[in-house]
Amino acid sequence: MEGTIIDIRRFTLHDGQGIRSTLFLKGCGLRCAWCQNPEGIDASVGLWYLATQCIRCGLCEASCPVGAIALRADGDPFVRIDRELCTRCGACVAACPTTALSFDGSRVSAEEAAATLLRDVEFYRQSGGGITISGGDPLVQHEFALEVLGLCKREGVHTAIETCLFGKWDVLDRFIRLTDLFIIDLKIADSALHAEYTGRPNDLILDNYKKLARAGVELLTRVPLIPGITATEANVGAMARVIRDRNPGGRVELINFNPLAISKYSLMNRSTEFFNGMAPLPESEIEALRALFEAEGLAVVREHRRPGGAGR
Ligand code: SF4
Ligand code: SF4
Repeated sequence: MEGTIIDIRRFTLHDGQGIRSTLFLKGCGLRCAWCQNPEGIDASVGLWYLATQCIRCGLCEASCPVGAIALRADGDPFVRIDRELCTRCGACVAACPTTALSFDGSRVSAEEAAATLLRDVEFYRQSGGGITISGGDPLVQHEFALEVLGLCKREGVHTAIETCLFGKWDVLDRFIRLTDLFIIDLKIADSALHAEYTGRPNDLILDNYKKLARAGVELLTRVPLIPGITATEANVGAMARVIRDRNPGGRVELINFNPLAISKYSLMNRSTEFFNGMAPLPESEIEALRALFEAEGLAVVREHRRPGGAGR
């Protein structure tokens, strides 16, 4: 079986305990306005253009068999890609002499993905680590994710998935047998606001969260701190109660906003206007939000700024 992946990162330290390797799958059921891995939203492979690497040679336009590339001599960007017309044939990527054009993912078999993940199995054993499947969201390409998990479990490796829980319970239920740790991203307590900022209401997500907690699996709940949206006193207070009611005494991890991921939006020719004026929260504000979770009996295990940023 084949799946579409963004990449596999080895020696990751933030996706579960110990030293790990993390497989990032493409495809997500939500459309978070602040998404820090925008290349993970679409399940198919996309084409990126890095204007700063482009020497304006025009070879990409000449190589495209379907006329999906147009050059604009006085334009910014110089290369314009018609993403509807593009068939992802790769001719322009091969023709480009400077790697200004690249794909944001690739197709691999479950065996290939598992073999890469299992390369560092000795480090996992020594450090108490393992492998994690993130994204995107593993629930989108669930058959592929389950097969990779099964191959890793067969080698006795600790397994984790990171998911926003937007999917059918029947699908999620199949992960329980193969997953040692569920890292759950919860964002906004109010369902209407959740729909406004992520494209979907949160009832299915919270229902799945309750069922997972009742199933007795190990949970780590992540809350991204997006200034003015998720990181408000009102939302964090409500989130603390939502988590307390479904997963009493649960572990919560706060993920500070990280502006580094904004550059990806430019690579994808997407607007960065949403992020105007946003900055990571100062320590004092994080402490105040942390206290709201702790007041509901939740264990805030740590806060860190993820390399890819907050909130998938
Ligand atoms: S990937 Fe192929 S179809 Fe798409 S722009 Fe490049 S050459 Fe054209
Ligand atoms: S082939 Fe590469 S360097 Fe040349 S114009 Fe196209 S993107 Fe720019």
